[in-house]
Amino acid sequence: MTRGVKLDLTGQRFSRLQVVEWVKPTKKWRCKCDCGCVKEIRADSLIQGTVRSCGCLRREMLREPGRVVSHGHTTYKRKSATYRSWSNMIHRCLRQGGTPLNPKALSFPPAWRAFENFLTDMGACPAGHCLRRRDADDDFSRENCVWVPYWGKARTANPVEG
Ligand SMILES: [Zn+2]
Repeated sequence: MTRGVKLDLTGQRFSRLQVVEWVKPTKKWRCKCDCGCVKEIRADSLIQGTVRSCGCLRREMLREPGRVVSHGHTTYKRKSATYRSWSNMIHRCLRQGGTPLNPKALSFPPAWRAFENFLTDMGACPAGHCLRRRDADDDFSRENCVWVPYWGKARTANPVEG
């Protein structure tokens, strides 16, 4: 036995994994995942970050691939209010017949199909606010949209208000 434990990882945390103890026979570290699973993982995988959970993280991401995006407004835990508002706005407009094909339907700027552009124009939704149009007869746009406080509406209220 020339290879011992190079590094004591006991008690250290790597993303969702809390290192419990060294398992000599398998030369791996026994880790407890935040979800409750226990798994033995190689030290290099932990340190390099190639393994960050028992597998539950990957499963969650596969379930909703749309959440894995770069702007930081979607996480595996929950979507940000900004993202939800944007998403609801898009779906609301599309339900009404699409844009800009149906001029009577509520529409939004074509650039807003990309969440990043919406975010650039509107900024992040302040806590407890929702997206509202200043003029309810007009379309969604940078000029016509504003973040307004919920005014004590139910938390389950649709974040997009007409
Ligand atoms: Zn897990």
